[in-house]
Amino acid sequence: MRIAMVSEHASPLAALGEVDAGGQNLHVAELSAALARLGHTVTVYTRRDARDLPERVVAGAGVTVVHVPAGPARRLPKDELLPHMGEFAEFLDAEWARDRPDVVHAHFWMSGLASLLGARGHGLPVVQTFHALGTVKRRHQGALDTSPSERVALERQIGQRATRVAATCSDEVFELARMGVRRANISVVPCGVDPELFSPGGERAPTGAPHRLVSVGRLVPRKGFDTIISALRRLPDTELVIAGGPPRQALAADEEARRLQEHAAREGVADRVRLLGQISRAEMPALLRSADAVVCTPWYEPFGIVPLEAMACGVPVVAAAVGGLTDTVVDGITGLHVPPRRPEELARALRSLLADPGRRAAYGAAGRDRACSRYNWDRIAQDTRRVYERAIVECRPRETADQAAGGSR
Ligand code: UDP
Repeated sequence: MRIAMVSEHASPLAALGEVDAGGQNLHVAELSAALARLGHTVTVYTRRDARDLPERVVAGAGVTVVHVPAGPARRLPKDELLPHMGEFAEFLDAEWARDRPDVVHAHFWMSGLASLLGARGHGLPVVQTFHALGTVKRRHQGALDTSPSERVALERQIGQRATRVAATCSDEVFELARMGVRRANISVVPCGVDPELFSPGGERAPTGAPHRLVSVGRLVPRKGFDTIISALRRLPDTELVIAGGPPRQALAADEEARRLQEHAAREGVADRVRLLGQISRAEMPALLRSADAVVCTPWYEPFGIVPLEAMACGVPVVAAAVGGLTDTVVDGITGLHVPPRRPEELARALRSLLADPGRRAAYGAAGRDRACSRYNWDRIAQDTRRVYERAIVECRPRETADQAAGGSR
């Protein structure tokens, strides 16, 4: 299959951890590579956000990244990209007129918009993965949500017009149904993990206290790091290491980093909280392995790759029971679920787990097993291929019907 992967703001070549670079970048990179391993050819279209980027880069065997000129060739916050999606779509249209893919897979709502516009004249099937939904973001972030005001309405249209929507978790299926997407047009395909890179054996970062908690994510309020900091007050002999955000040297100027440090000082735990800033993918497994538990307590989470990475490393995960975390983390088997934004309950769950090495080991082993068997990228790529095959078949009658309707008008 010739697959066009569209990821307007999230380049598979970007460094992870900064405000607009996280799970989606990784998802696009790993899925493309795994599809290429299955023998497919993948072209990833992402916005050209620096002057020195070549138009085409071979990212690995069978995967090419195309930097699409759409708006200024510099970094822009993703919430400012909508006005440039028309230009992005024109590029796709011209590209696909010259070189027709079999299927288009759009990531995030703006890619869906550009893809549907670009694919319109070519009768191409479009598979949509939202990664995050505007309705959910608005519900949780309220006035803090800086998404364009058109987002929610456009997402609904994209969901309804895409040939097929690939949700990343079961919770998203309910949200999509509420938006009017037909249940029959939704498939669930989760994100994955590399079980060779993320494995229990190997280096372990040194610890500075009898117990260590690790939490990883972009430094944005909705990741809920402050909940863990508050819980730490009730967890003596325990340190918390937080990875993510800008590179370490730029951490002092980061507003959210400062807010978290001030929060730690107010809670009287500043000496036990360490912010590492952005860390490389190569360093991530050793950091996760060094934890007695990896803690993920976001307000909401469209999927959440970090818990899978921790599970693959054989580390128990204590997670807020929200979004994708209710699918990946199995309460009482691979870790524990807690309600979001409730430090006392988090502290209670962690206290009992930290006091019980046998249970931690059992959760870790079950987590490794689950991550390897259910979430390895090769399996995710096979599931995705089946979704593409279905979309290709589903697109045919519609295409024929559209042509017939056009001919009779
Ligand atoms: N990550 C990283 N370095 C960092 C912070 C995060 O490599 O400093 C990676 C992390 O290991 C995971 C991804 O970025 O693979 C974050 O994905 P997730 O789905 O957990 O969160 P998102 O950023 O998409 O909200």
